[in-house]
Amino acid sequence: MSIADNIRNLKKETEQIGVTLLAVSKTKPITDIQEAYDAGQRLFGENIIQELVEKQPQLPADIEWHIIGHLQTNKVKYIAPFISMIQSVDSIKLIQEINKHAARANRVIDCLLQVYIADEETKFGLGFDEAIEMLRSEEFAALKNIRIRGLMGIATNTDNEKQIKEEYYELKTFFDGIKTSFFRKDDTFDTVSMGMSSDYKLAIEQGSNMVRLGSTIFGNRAKKAV
Ligand SMILES: *Cc1c(COP(=O)(O)O)cnc(C)c1O
Repeated sequence: MSIADNIRNLKKETEQIGVTLLAVSKTKPITDIQEAYDAGQRLFGENIIQELVEKQPQLPADIEWHIIGHLQTNKVKYIAPFISMIQSVDSIKLIQEINKHAARANRVIDCLLQVYIADEETKFGLGFDEAIEMLRSEEFAALKNIRIRGLMGIATNTDNEKQIKEEYYELKTFFDGIKTSFFRKDDTFDTVSMGMSSDYKLAIEQGSNMVRLGSTIFGNRAKKAV
């Protein structure tokens, strides 16, 4: 199946049930992204700033770019003028930096807090306690140029479906709690970003409303690029 076929099928599958499809185009060439675009896809995710900054000007301006990988504070300035959403906010320092550059660009940047749910040492993200602490802090309350739209999580890389389900269940439950405690009146706190190619169906069952799919759309990536 072509990239265009994959997009059409996956868009249909997800849109019918109110789930947003993010096409993860990291490591993939402009031509692949253009094919997905021509099939109707507008949301794309990248995790390397350098790569995104090279691709963005070569592609249609109405693409909504999302950052889905760990973002270093010194890179925020390169994407602040155009980025649609930063899904990988994992510290107060980072979100302060995003706020600063969003203000300079005269924008409000949508963000997700990346919450740590995996049983692995290597994944970035905030612990549940850290996320709450951040939302309660005065530093956070002072930020006017960011908008928290929800949470993002990455499950453990395992074949154990029960474990993946539990991790996604935890994230959805945490989202509901955060919504009630901090964003009760905020209709824009609405995004639960969970699910990748290997586990997106499980994630949707557990309440995801945004799935981030790369290899299912574009085929496998070269191993080293992850
Ligand atoms: C690479 C990546 C994806 C997509 O992975 P696939 O397995 O190719 O669907 C989703 N989310 C994040 C955070 C990623 O880094």
